Amino acid sequence: MGDRVKIAPRAMEEMVAHCRKEYPNEACGYLAGRGEEVAQTYPIRNGAASPTWYEMDPAEQLKAQREIRQKGMEHLGVYHSHVATEAYPSRRDIERATAVQDFFDGRYVLVTLKDASPGARAFTIRDGHVAEEELVET
Ligand SMILES: [Zn+2]
Repeated sequence: MGDRVKIAPRAMEEMVAHCRKEYPNEACGYLAGRGEEVAQTYPIRNGAASPTWYEMDPAEQLKAQREIRQKGMEHLGVYHSHVATEAYPSRRDIERATAVQDFFDGRYVLVTLKDASPGARAFTIRDGHVAEEELVET
C-alpha cells in the first residue's frame, strides 16, 4: 500500500458536490478506479440521515459494487463528510473501520464542510491506528 492516493479532479469535484448536497447530514459513497487512481465516485444514500453518522444503504452498495466490477475497475475506498468537524476519522469511524478491516482494506477519504472551502484528506485505518496518506489531484 502506497502513501499517496491519486484522485482525478472530476472525481474530487463530484465527491465534494455530493457532500454539499446532503448537508447538514453526512454524505457517503464509494471511490473506484484502476490501479491506484480514483477515477469515479459512487454516491450512496446515508440510511442514518444524520449530521454525525452514516450507514451506507446496503442495496446501493451492492449496485455500486456491481457497476464497478462491470467497468473493470476496483473499489479503492469510501468517502464520507464531516459537517462540523475536521476531515479526520472519529472514534466511531475508527472502530467501524477496524471491525471490517478483514473485508475492506481500502482508503477512507474524509471531507470537511466546517469551513467555507471544503477540505479532503485520505487515511488507512487498521487495528485502531490511523495513517494519513497524501491525497493528490492528478
Ligand atoms: Zn466520520
